[in-house]
Amino acid sequence: QPICIVVIGMAGSGKTTLMQRLNSYLHSKNTPPYILNLDPAVTHMPYEANIDIRDTVDYREVMKQYNLGPNGGILTALNLFTTKFDQVLGFVEKRSESVDHILLDTPGQIEIFTWSASGSIITESIASSMPTCVAYVIDTPRTTSPSTFMSNMLYACSILYKTRLPFILVFNKTDVQPHQFAVDWMNDWQLFQKSLQASTEGGDGEANYMNSLMNSMCLVLDEFYEGLRTVGVSAMTGQGIGEFFEKVEQAREEYDRDYRPELEKQA
Ligand code: GDP
Ligand code: MG
Repeated sequence: QPICIVVIGMAGSGKTTLMQRLNSYLHSKNTPPYILNLDPAVTHMPYEANIDIRDTVDYREVMKQYNLGPNGGILTALNLFTTKFDQVLGFVEKRSESVDHILLDTPGQIEIFTWSASGSIITESIASSMPTCVAYVIDTPRTTSPSTFMSNMLYACSILYKTRLPFILVFNKTDVQPHQFAVDWMNDWQLFQKSLQASTEGGDGEANYMNSLMNSMCLVLDEFYEGLRTVGVSAMTGQGIGEFFEKVEQAREEYDRDYRPELEKQA
């Protein structure tokens, strides 16, 4: 049975580039993936999707027709697509004999997918029909500051708790910035706390408030890190992609161990 990898991340983190890299890696192993593009607003796609939301809905037309701005247009396009999702799932299931991986690219604006009913419906219906994991892509060079790192981790944490799916933190762009600093921070919250304090030292009252808030959050995150898999990759050079797929296999085991039994209980 294939595993579905849902690629989520902030705009610019490198989701599309990563999709392309995963695609070419899998082709080189003679196990081409089945690809779904759920970003209605993507203009340049460096790979070919088997199912593309843009074939069903034109979000610019949707914007015009319903008098919406870009985000409203994207969300409405996603909603319209979701009404057909049972058919999409049918296509995917038909191919599940012959593919090992299903890759799903999500809209550039992360919250449109993660905090919409459609995003949940799509994620849950895939996850209830086959092993599924979330690959949360991080722009490593842009998260070297402790406070940015923390917000990014909290965002990831909220997605994990919302979806309950096996989760892989993908530190991307390691060709520009190795992700060791992140691994160190995740392994040792006191070290992170020190970096945080150093970065806000000499601040005003607001900075002190932030500091104490962040210190409590460190403890929340420490628990979050426990259940996580982490990998550093470069979507650009291909570094770390083999290791990424090792984590995907671990995620599959977690799905079978933890997620599937929950599903069966509900059924
Ligand atoms: P998306 O918005 O998450 O889909 O991000 P894109 O895949 O469009 O990438 C955003 C920018 O980051 C582009 O300019 C990419 O060339 C660049 N990028 C993506 N992955 C990497 C990487 O591994 N290394 C470097 N140096 N740049 C990258
Ligand atoms: Mg993209």
